[in-house]
Amino acid sequence: MRKHIIAGNWKMNKNFSEADDLLNDLMEQLENVKLPRETQVIVCPPFPFLEMASDYANDSYFLVGAQNVSDKESGAYTGEVSAEMLASCEIDCCIVGHSERRSYYGETNAIVAAKVDQLLKHDLMPIMCCGEVLAEREANRQFDVVKSQIEEGLFHLSADDIKRVVIAYEPVWAIGTGRTATPEQAQEMHHYIRTLLAEKYGSAVADEISILYGGSCKPSNAKELFANPDVDGGLIGGASLKADDFMGIVTA
Ligand code: PEP
Repeated sequence: MRKHIIAGNWKMNKNFSEADDLLNDLMEQLENVKLPRETQVIVCPPFPFLEMASDYANDSYFLVGAQNVSDKESGAYTGEVSAEMLASCEIDCCIVGHSERRSYYGETNAIVAAKVDQLLKHDLMPIMCCGEVLAEREANRQFDVVKSQIEEGLFHLSADDIKRVVIAYEPVWAIGTGRTATPEQAQEMHHYIRTLLAEKYGSAVADEISILYGGSCKPSNAKELFANPDVDGGLIGGASLKADDFMGIVTA
């Protein structure tokens, strides 16, 4: 059975004590809910708070992820953080290919592929984001865009390796805008992604890969989105910054 995952992407928010308060609140609330065994809760705070989050993560369904990683192994790359460093600090996973990294920092599909390779090499789970911008959806190009992101970012992997990847479909027009994809739009794209995976790797492999939805997901719409057969949870931005909102989504 594939994992149901709720991952919080804090982006560049919170200072040290705010991060500690949020983690404390989250842990208190997590202790009081009984989640199904296949559920995983992930928080992805900024780099300086990863160790703090890791100290809280004494539980098998609570994982800690980074928001970025270098595509290089090591060396003279000032300001970069390698997958090996993350692994040595017991970080479990990392977001790659987020639309903000693609649009503000020039993260191409080739760079995403190299980051995925670094993460897998060091035994971290990549959460690989894909999704179209509004103009692409309006031109009905969303499937082509997502197809090239998936093919160029992931299809060099073996069947064994792609099973270690989580995919997040995040329509860019829904990120931080308050405008969510409808459950039908989400299911349609998630089904399309699973079909691409099945064509390349076979349906047994495709059925094992969790595909998360991201884009203005909140407690009020999470249940409807997650009820779809190909939606295996969510990557949550804004609503991951408040314990009550995030837990409202986790329990949905
Ligand atoms: C995100 O940035 O990954 C995201 C889904 O953001 P939001 O939930 O704020 O739309």
